[in-house]
Formats: sequence, C-alpha cells, structure tokens
Amino acid sequence: MANYLVVGGAGYIGSHMVRTLLDAGHDVTVLDDISRGHAASVPAELLVRGDLGDRALLDELFTQRRFDCVMHFAAFAQVGESVQEPLAYYRNNTSRAVELLDAMKHAGIDRFIFSSTAATYGEPVRLPIDEDHPTVPTNPYGRSKRFLEQVLDDCEQAWGLRSVRLRYFNAAGAHPSGEIGEDHSPESHLVPLLLQVALGQRKDIAIFGTDWDTRDGTCIRDYVHICDLAKAHMLASEHLAAGGGTRTFNLGCEEGTSVREMIDVARKVTGHPIPSVDSARRAGDPARLVASSARIRSELGWAPEFDTPEWIVRTAWRWHRSHPQGYATS
Ligand code: UDP
Repeated sequence: MANYLVVGGAGYIGSHMVRTLLDAGHDVTVLDDISRGHAASVPAELLVRGDLGDRALLDELFTQRRFDCVMHFAAFAQVGESVQEPLAYYRNNTSRAVELLDAMKHAGIDRFIFSSTAATYGEPVRLPIDEDHPTVPTNPYGRSKRFLEQVLDDCEQAWGLRSVRLRYFNAAGAHPSGEIGEDHSPESHLVPLLLQVALGQRKDIAIFGTDWDTRDGTCIRDYVHICDLAKAHMLASEHLAAGGGTRTFNLGCEEGTSVREMIDVARKVTGHPIPSVDSARRAGDPARLVASSARIRSELGWAPEFDTPEWIVRTAWRWHRSHPQGYATS
C-alpha cells in the first residue's frame, strides 16, 4: 500500500480519485483550498485546507508525512474563463504547480501524476488524436497545462522527477454509488446541464452550433467516465512505482458522440423531453475531438468499463437526482 498526496482532491475528478485510492486500501491526504471543490466530497479527516502555492504549508506537510506519489488535480479548467483571465490560469495552473514541484524536490519525492488535457493539442490536424499529434493549444487553459508538461520534462532532466501526464478528453459521469459527482458553479458542461433541464432547474439546453461539418451538424466529443479516468491514474501510479519512466497518455473512449446524440441519450435515461434550442457556435470549440487511447491500452492495460454515453449519463443522473443542489443538498 502506498501513501498519496492528492492535490485538488475535493474537486470533481480529484474526489473520484480519492474514493478509488481508498477503496484500494491506500493512505490518502487531500490538499485543497475548497475554492472550487467541496469539503463534503472527501472524508473530513483526510482534508488539509490550503493552497498548493503555499510553500510553508507544503514544506510542513512534506516534513510531517512521507508521500510515495503526488497526484495533481488542482487547476482552473474553463476555456472561456481562461481567455478572459489568462493570468489567473498561469498563476494557478502553472506557477503554483511549480511551487508544488519545488517542494517535492526538496522532500525527495520523485513520482508525479498530472491531470493534463486534450486542450494541449489545439485544433486537430488529424483524427483520432494520438499523443504524437502536434501540441498547439489555442487558449490560455491549454497553454497553462502544456507549459507544466514542459516544466516536468525539465525537472526530469535536472533531478530525475518521473511523471505520467494524462490528457483527458471529456470527463463525465459520476461514481456508481451516487454519493459523489459533478457540482460546478456556474455549470458549463453539457452532461450536467442536460440533467439540470431534466430536473426542471433549466428550461432548455442550448446547442452551440448546428452547422458544423459533422454527421448531424453538432460538435463531436469523446466522453470518458470519471471512474475510468481514476482507474487510469491507479495504473499510471503502479507504472511509476514499478520503476517506469515518464509517459504521456490520452484518456478517451475513442468514440465520438455529437451534442444531439448526447441529448437523445439524456432524454432516454431521464424520460424527460429536454427541449433544445439551436444556438450560435461557442468561441474556441473545435468541431471534432476524438482520442486514440491505444497507447495506454497497450502499455498499461487500461480498458474503460463505463464506455458508452448511456453509462455516463445513467451514473450522472443517479447523482443529480439524489443531489439536486449538488453538495449543498441536505
Ligand atoms: N455544449 C452545448 N451546449 C451547452 C454546453 C456545451 O452545445 O450548453 C457543447 C459544446 O459546444 C461542446 C460539447 O457540448 O461541443 C461539450 O462541451 P463541454 O463544455 O461539456 O466540454 P468541452 O468540450 O468544452 O470540454
């Protein structure tokens, strides 16, 4: 059993990671400032409230406890916001993470699992997108993540840090228990918005663009279940624990689902008509993003379990129906 520090462990993806690690019997400490995460999403005794850029706090934590591996989920992750507030993204996603890495170096911790993103690729020049696809991010969010990947390369050269960078496509769904799930404020992601319509909290769903060059005119994305993401992190950590070197892996189901297809799935799962309104394109959206995950499948044996949009929406619906106000539901 290993000892993990999960930075940003009270966020959507981080909280599912914490659950997966605990279920596997590992020791977990969560560092989260609860600025966007939820204290209720993790066991209270595991939570250290604080900022990942707070060097004194990090040094104290690393002196008190011995960690085998650090998993880093604490980041701002909204493309539109990153265009409006680029410095907030470079500060939080890049500079603060540099402090974390420096503290790790001083504590002698050399294993790091990093939440990266398909946004590091930018506009696709070929599909499916494999890890050798050019990385030309088109917004500050993607750049802030790509910078950190490059910082990790330099740390490896300089002091032997080994890292796995997992480039997520569209993370969605919730833990099958229905006890933890997605709760952003404001919400901007397609699946939770659809379910808010089904709950009667929104009138309809806006379809951002119906004239894309795709099979039904709407954008195509590769949705991957949150628990399958968490499982990939476990495999990545085992790879590093076994002495494996730095790797970059895509995480997607290799299946493109259009916005209209996702709306149909949500109608079927919820039994609600979910009215839709054709709307203008959203700035910065590529028409199609579909992963090749062949590398992690063959190298680490990753295989998504919840690999259909139905599974994703079904588990998300269980969470939303039992927590209509998210973690604020009493
Ligand atoms: N989308 C939409 N209406 C919404 C929210 C999202 O049509 O209210 C579309 C969006 O344009 C994209 C897809 O749904 O093609 C997934 O968007 P999301 O924000 O969930 O994830 P992203 O692809 O931006 O990471």
